[in-house]
Amino acid sequence: MSKTVEMIRLTEQYGANNYYPLPVVLTKGERVWVEDIEGNRYIDMLSAYSAVNQGHRHPKIIQALKEQADRLTLTSRAFHNDQLGPWYEKVAKLTGKDMVLPMNTGAEAVETALKAARRWAYDVKGVEKDKAEIIVCENNFHGRTMAAVSMSSNEEYQRGFGPMLPGIKVIPYGDINALKKAITKNTAAFIFEPIQGEAGVRIPPQGFLQEAHDVCKANNVLYIADEIQSGLGRSGKMFACDWENIIPDMYILGKALGGGVFPISCVAANRDILGVFNPGSHGSTFGGNPLACAVSSAAIDVMIEEKLAERSLELGSYFIQKLREIQHPDIKEVRGRGLFIGMELHTSARPYCEKLQQEGLLCKETHDTVIRFAPPLVITKEELDWAIEKVKKVFAQS
Ligand code: PLP
Repeated sequence: MSKTVEMIRLTEQYGANNYYPLPVVLTKGERVWVEDIEGNRYIDMLSAYSAVNQGHRHPKIIQALKEQADRLTLTSRAFHNDQLGPWYEKVAKLTGKDMVLPMNTGAEAVETALKAARRWAYDVKGVEKDKAEIIVCENNFHGRTMAAVSMSSNEEYQRGFGPMLPGIKVIPYGDINALKKAITKNTAAFIFEPIQGEAGVRIPPQGFLQEAHDVCKANNVLYIADEIQSGLGRSGKMFACDWENIIPDMYILGKALGGGVFPISCVAANRDILGVFNPGSHGSTFGGNPLACAVSSAAIDVMIEEKLAERSLELGSYFIQKLREIQHPDIKEVRGRGLFIGMELHTSARPYCEKLQQEGLLCKETHDTVIRFAPPLVITKEELDWAIEKVKKVFAQS
């Protein structure tokens, strides 16, 4: 039995069956390259759903991890630690916001945003008790907790998990009139992805982010951007909201905030919103731990020093253009911003992902018919040229 078969057997025998991975077992990673246990090398075209924007095991991030691991890893928030304050300041400056609230995973940060919005609605806006409403978009992905799946429009994400959280309205993505109609005096917030990642890299119609912002402002509704996947350089700008020069009331961040090394997420907003929390209202044992803060601080520095957003924009435009040159009847559309690219097919994307794996490219299908290309932002043009030859080869043989 090969090592790969044995590892997959163990995983399938003892693990809950909640994922459908490609049949590859990875054991090493460096920058954009990963290696499986048989010694095969691949370019990682998924970057752990954009959590590895800085590349696998970036030396500066690993150094920060090691140094902090040798000093102090966890205090809980029962005490202060010397990493949290400086990290707050860094994230506040990055987002231009007054305050930050740290959590661990993306879904927890989404929960935090939802709680902040509801409490803001009652304490600041004056919505009647338990009447607050949240507006979200069709095909969103905000995570897997009960609040996040309650916001989903995907039946399979909700099946068997009811009852769902009340007070959530779903509108078609990018439909400004639907947003206007959905708003009532009880609306607390509009929570959206400025580019929908899991839906297959969907970009809203030009002007939607701006118009939605104006509608929210006019109606005293919080405009909350889930930039967990689209933010931190992925779309070719620091935040995908920057594509329309919009500053949301709140950013929800995660994934690359931990540089692909350690989980950390947060929400960032001004005092008039995050000021609604008081001791006892929200928290997490690991949220804001010194190890995560030290790693995240280094991850942010790397992003800025290595101009990863600019790199993503330049290399992404190049890669999209090269992908669009591929002529094949199965290809419906190539879309994207920066190195956040979806190739939509007329057919299932899974067999293509399996063939790309054979050629040394690890891509994962999303929404059945979309191949997502989202390599670490430290990728070089030469590596993209290598990748494009492999994609061409796979389509030429199919
Ligand atoms: N929000 C968005 C936009 C995401 O893409 C994801 C994950 O893919 C999440 C939230 C959930 O993050 P996590 O898996 O860290 O809970």
